[in-house]
Amino acid sequence: MRGPGRVVAQILAAVQDQAKAGMRTAELDEIARDVLARNGAYSPFLNYQPGFAPVPFPATICTSVNDAALHGIPGRYKLADGDLLSVDCGAVLDGWTGDAAVSFTIGTARPADKRLIDVTRDALRAGIAAAVPGARIGDISAAIGAVGRAGGYGICTDFGGHGVGRTMHEDPSVPNEGAPGRGRRLVPGLVIAIEPWFLAGGRDMYRIDRDGWTIRSGDGSRAAHAEHTVAVTDDGPQVLTVLWPPNDPAARPPQPPHSPRLTRHSCPASSKFSRLALDIDTDGI
Ligand code: MG
Ligand code: MG
Repeated sequence: MRGPGRVVAQILAAVQDQAKAGMRTAELDEIARDVLARNGAYSPFLNYQPGFAPVPFPATICTSVNDAALHGIPGRYKLADGDLLSVDCGAVLDGWTGDAAVSFTIGTARPADKRLIDVTRDALRAGIAAAVPGARIGDISAAIGAVGRAGGYGICTDFGGHGVGRTMHEDPSVPNEGAPGRGRRLVPGLVIAIEPWFLAGGRDMYRIDRDGWTIRSGDGSRAAHAEHTVAVTDDGPQVLTVLWPPNDPAARPPQPPHSPRLTRHSCPASSKFSRLALDIDTDGI
């Protein structure tokens, strides 16, 4: 499942790289379609119609702007300076699926948006760190929820993480808040999407647009979303929706507790390996 994960990471990197004020969200969808085609992959989002949706999803990615948190449909909307954009994306390659999302700002970021994005990413990092054999789904949920509540943000558990495999949404469900020690036990080989989304206003309410898809905060406050597809392994959580080296600090693997920490002195400072080692040493999870 690293293959589709890498394609998803490429799409999110390309969209984030090219998104700018004045661009229509439909143009971002075209970028995603190009990356999928170049990799021989296809979108599990296009024409997807789960039970809650009145019509099939008509695009390749979700583009959710400002108070929209999830499932925004790319279209004629023109991005503006200061917008908070959440992009969610999937890819199917060789019969396996990857699913990930990222939030970022267009141009000048409001400090409150930057904090919301950072805390949502911190919650993803905490959820990933909890995805170890022997733990339970509730441990992931509790880790995510604790970070969101400490930030003062609203959390809605109607939509959240899920198993990923041959199809995009499989068991088990991975809610963004819950009791530790409860739920299914995590075993090596289980692959799940972990995806906190928080509401800046602090209220746990959302509404759905007339399009039947776009999920917005109930109070008009801004929202952020962060997601990775993660494999539970004996060596700890492995994030699959990454480029290598990982392009997302939230996806860097945790440092094993008993392994020697790589330092600036372990290899020449100019090597790629050294830069990666320094990243892990200073940032970790
Ligand atoms: Mg997703
Ligand atoms: Mg997902």
